[in-house]
Amino acid sequence: MDQIKTGKFIAQRRKEKGITQFQLAEALGVTDRAVSKWETGRSLPDSSIMLPLCDLLEITVTDLLKGEKVSVENYNKETEKEILELVKQKKYADRMLLRVEILIGVICTVILLAAAVIASYINAEEWLRVVIVLAGLAPFLVALPVMLKIEQKAGYYECPHCGHKYVPSFKSVNLAPHLCRTRHMRCPKCNKKGWQKKVISKD
Ligand SMILES: [Zn+2]
Repeated sequence: MDQIKTGKFIAQRRKEKGITQFQLAEALGVTDRAVSKWETGRSLPDSSIMLPLCDLLEITVTDLLKGEKVSVENYNKETEKEILELVKQKKYADRMLLRVEILIGVICTVILLAAAVIASYINAEEWLRVVIVLAGLAPFLVALPVMLKIEQKAGYYECPHCGHKYVPSFKSVNLAPHLCRTRHMRCPKCNKKGWQKKVISKD
């Protein structure tokens, strides 16, 4: 998939329809900045926007991802190719996100340790030591919801009983006891509780 080609195709179809970026944005409930970003290839429309966008431009999702009108005989082959490409990109993005999560965790831990060391060796009053430790804890508190969100969204959790792979709700990830990334949650398919591992792909 070529994001720039897709962007150019969106712009071309929009102009053929005689509508402005602003009108397209309004019809889809997004900002015209978002439309401009798609058309210049800086971002792809969110998957929830793709169908209504294609309806408005009178193209298929496969045309959109391919960046051109796909002929009927090539349609199935092209669709498969584009879907596989999207899956590959999601896997890559998820892997990167999980790495970012580790990085955030390491940075926050280093800051906290540094604050603890400073607080214990500095020649200062008690309250100042407490303030230093709390300041060292602050990045963790800010980063924690971000890290939890990454863990919820990136990849899938796999049920140890039935092998079902799914994306849990933010709440259940939040409340579940965990060992590193393995979380104790209830499987939505077989309804059994178990230690569910994080996996990147569904296959
Ligand atoms: Zn299960």
